[in-house]
Amino acid sequence: MTVTRTPGVPAIDEGSLISTNPASGEEVGRFPVASPDHLTVAVARARDAAAWWAGLEFAGRRRRLLAYRSLLANRIDELAELMHREGGKPTADALVEAIAAVDHIAWAAQHARKVLGRRRVSSSLLLKEHTSYLEYLPLGVVGVIGPWNYPVLTPMGSIAYALAAGNAVVFKPSEYTPAVGQWLVDRFAEVVPEQPVLQIVHGMGDVGAALCRSGVDKIAFTGSTATGKKVMAAAAESLTPVLLECGGKDSMIVAADADLDAAAAACVWGGLTNAGQTCVGIERVYVADAVYDDFLGRVVSRAAKLQVGADAGADIGPITMPSQIDVIRRHIEDALTRGGRAVLGGAEAVRPPFVSPTILVDVPEDAAAVQEETFGPTLTITRVRDADEAVRLTNGTGYGLGGAVFAKSGGVDLARRIRSGMTSVNSALTFAGMPSLPFGGVGGSGFGRIHGEDGLREFTRPKAIVKRRGPTVLAAMTFDRTEKTMAQIVKVVRLVHGRSHQNS
Ligand code: NDP
Repeated sequence: MTVTRTPGVPAIDEGSLISTNPASGEEVGRFPVASPDHLTVAVARARDAAAWWAGLEFAGRRRRLLAYRSLLANRIDELAELMHREGGKPTADALVEAIAAVDHIAWAAQHARKVLGRRRVSSSLLLKEHTSYLEYLPLGVVGVIGPWNYPVLTPMGSIAYALAAGNAVVFKPSEYTPAVGQWLVDRFAEVVPEQPVLQIVHGMGDVGAALCRSGVDKIAFTGSTATGKKVMAAAAESLTPVLLECGGKDSMIVAADADLDAAAAACVWGGLTNAGQTCVGIERVYVADAVYDDFLGRVVSRAAKLQVGADAGADIGPITMPSQIDVIRRHIEDALTRGGRAVLGGAEAVRPPFVSPTILVDVPEDAAAVQEETFGPTLTITRVRDADEAVRLTNGTGYGLGGAVFAKSGGVDLARRIRSGMTSVNSALTFAGMPSLPFGGVGGSGFGRIHGEDGLREFTRPKAIVKRRGPTVLAAMTFDRTEKTMAQIVKVVRLVHGRSHQNS
């Protein structure tokens, strides 16, 4: 039976979490809410599964993860349709997200051995008769807490890398997207039926909080900065390590020599894709004075053509989390009352559950629309003297997640001066689709890295092993040492390290 409920508001009914379509209110699915006992059992089962999974070694895990990757690729339309139905995002956005996730699973599976596997490293001159080995061992059980805005790519950025590194995972999806989370876990069980290597626990925030205290070996959290602080506080009770992927307020810098058409296209897509509900979405734009009017005209003309609606082919879908609409409205109204102007959209653009593209100019730098995460299809576009001023203003919020620079010359130098984890030059958001690059922020955007080599190591502990191969040559680390031996060692140290400025 199809039950129509308050659109987009998850509810708990008789122990089940009910997810609904944010535009129509149509029920998408019901999922059992995890009790504290259920969570304890899930973590205990995960511990057994982790031992089995780690025992498969890199080759066994690689084979299974690549089979998972293939299964997702072959059923990607089904996944995208579910993402559209549950989160409201247009199908093309859902496909872009799911494709990136598939790519990450493949990369993590294919690179885990090279990045984490045991290798010999050099030994100290004074300990030459030893061989040194370095390897990265799995932590055991990783708790992954995910958000609703990218319900496939963001959790998979932790899950795929944690699994490839040899851990079992207990996953708590957002209460807004439990069906997508369940689908991902069910598909994994089809390729790894032997053990519950990837489990899911459903519920509201309290289930996430319980997961932080459940004895897992690490928490990988993606969500808001406010919740990230709670996660870290809860994990601190047991010294459980945390990876925090939190919010952002990313900017785009448009230099005077930028390709304006490419910059405008990337700005509109980077700011408005997924209705602006993107952690690394462009929310602020700083444009060099010389090209400001030209750039603004191009952005407005592109953004005005976008189709807003609930249908799968729309450019901008509904706002998934109804309470976010109040934040978006407050930011727009605050900007307008403080001297800002809407050159597209504005207060009347907010028509729940939709918000039409809104371009704000002349907004003071201390306004909420410039300093706080808006998470809607809005952009502030600000005139600056030059790229230096743009960098200074870009670095003027507490966040530091991603960002973009458009410049024909010096773009990479500008990118390096931005206090953030990732920056795209002459494109937007592209770093998220590069499995070989680490992803994560600084400051209020969190710490730790998913994706790439760092993302694999994030879910491991480095293990150092030193093995003595033969008789000790310079025996300093024993009470059998003699004065003569120590004198010899000091002589060697002076020879090797005592000559200043050589080979340095
Ligand atoms: P929230 O912080 O509200 O929720 C994130 C997850 O944490 C959800 O699963 C939530 O459960 C759970 N949770 C809530 N309370 C607690 C608690 N006390 N302890 C543990 N877990 C808890 O974020 P949103 O879901 O609203 O996601 C949007 C935010 O995520 C934005 O700020 C966005 O920028 C950020 N984000 C960051 C990314 C990055 O990589 N840096 C990527 C994508 C999003 P429930 O939903 O059931 O409340």
